Amino acid sequence: MGKILQSDFYCTKCGKKGIPVQRKTGQEREPGHLKKLYCLYCGKEVNMVEIKPFSTIYTYDDFLDEFECDNFNEDGTRKMTIGEFNTFRNNNKERKYHNEKYN
Ligand SMILES: [Zn+2]
Repeated sequence: MGKILQSDFYCTKCGKKGIPVQRKTGQEREPGHLKKLYCLYCGKEVNMVEIKPFSTIYTYDDFLDEFECDNFNEDGTRKMTIGEFNTFRNNNKERKYHNEKYN
């Protein structure tokens, strides 16, 4: 019998936390996996990003960065893959902080 872990989901549209989903270990998806779920705030099914407990590969901070940098399309898919986004983020750290300061 596998252990059950609870994953958190965050809406790619509004950035708010969705309804957690329980998964058996061994059925995990890749980090930052997208799943269509109903968002209470948007009032419809949207793509949500999965964040697993204890994961160091993809955390809530990673989601926030993607969300703030507008890495999600209208249909909730990613513009850049997580790997591409990490490279982009590393290359644009200074600009990002500059924008935050002067916005
Ligand atoms: Zn939402």
